[in-house]
Amino acid sequence: MNQKTIYFDNAATTRVSPKVFKSMMPFFQNSYGNPSTIYSLGREARQAIEVAREKIANSINADKEEIFFTGSGTESDNWAIKGIAYANRKKGNHIITTNIEHHAILNTCKNLERNGFEVTYVPVEKNGIVNPKDILKEIRKDTVLISVMFANNEIGTLQPIVEIGKITKENGIYFHTDAVQAVGNIKIDVNELNIDLLSLSAHKLNGPKGVGALYIRKGVKIENLIHGGGQENRMRAGTENVASIVGLGKAIELATEDIEGKAKYLTNLREKAIKSILENIPHTIINGDRERRLPGNINVCFEYIEGESILLLLDSLGICASSGSACTSGSLNPSHVLLAIGLPHEIAHGSLRLSFSKENTEEEVDFLLEKLPPIISRLRDMSPLYTQVKK
Ligand SMILES: *Cc1c(COP(=O)(O)O)cnc(C)c1O
Repeated sequence: MNQKTIYFDNAATTRVSPKVFKSMMPFFQNSYGNPSTIYSLGREARQAIEVAREKIANSINADKEEIFFTGSGTESDNWAIKGIAYANRKKGNHIITTNIEHHAILNTCKNLERNGFEVTYVPVEKNGIVNPKDILKEIRKDTVLISVMFANNEIGTLQPIVEIGKITKENGIYFHTDAVQAVGNIKIDVNELNIDLLSLSAHKLNGPKGVGALYIRKGVKIENLIHGGGQENRMRAGTENVASIVGLGKAIELATEDIEGKAKYLTNLREKAIKSILENIPHTIINGDRERRLPGNINVCFEYIEGESILLLLDSLGICASSGSACTSGSLNPSHVLLAIGLPHEIAHGSLRLSFSKENTEEEVDFLLEKLPPIISRLRDMSPLYTQVKK
């Protein structure tokens, strides 16, 4: 097949940008020293790590000493949740989170529940946003941590981070946010927002896969997750992934350069696509708040058909997109996020997520908007449910 790929799945991962790729290269072949050594080959690597740390700190208004490199966004989430839970057990064993978190949070919380901790999963409202009052209601004497994602990876909704930051500060509870989808898309200031811990990941912002970072505010009491050598200020053991860390630093620097311009561009693409889809395809539901969402995210349900079959037909045209129910291959469970916003199973199955990046062009979106309506009607014509409804 020789057709061009149209990539609308940037919430799943992104292409490493050429500048990021170039910045990483020297650390595979030339500056390959172990950053813990004292000769200049090692010092070069150390220096590069510290430059990357500074770039990340600058992008969220943190101090360099508050940034710790990890192996993924998932590891950052695990470390934040388990690290706080185990280090603050004397104070209490209760955690509050929401029911639309990424599985890196939800399954970590499930693990803690099996180990004697208590977790409250606050439900979100129909628009996919948690009400801060519902969080406030759940606070107890023994609550040590509130973890609420910055932006949802499926439906793109932005959570009320300002309000939650105020609540946690007033109540002396640590505040963690999984900002993997937000960093590089939304301006974040950890001090203004009273965030104590923040997870991020390189491959969601045109950096390499397999590297992330956790911001830990100075003074926060946290246990190590990975034990071993003295790397990362004795907080996260293991020889540093130097090239990837350099790539993460470069990627964040590039991603935060013109957040507003990028947001405007992506919002335009998104609104154009949503408008056209709603006009041209009947029985369609847009999931998540229409305004309080990531600039490049569209999540839509087409009633009476399966998300997977839409993906296959889009793929045959070279278009990459995602469906809420396709997360774990072989499993036809609808997405926990779509169920959380109140969609019935049969509708949640027909979901399509499009996530745009600044590399996408208007022509690509036009191509999709031309191809999508006939795909949906073709699938509906084959759907017994739909033929019944039409009668
Ligand atoms: C992708 C993602 C993660 C996991 O990050 P990895 O680096 O892939 O482990 C966690 N949370 C959210 C919201 C994500 O989108």
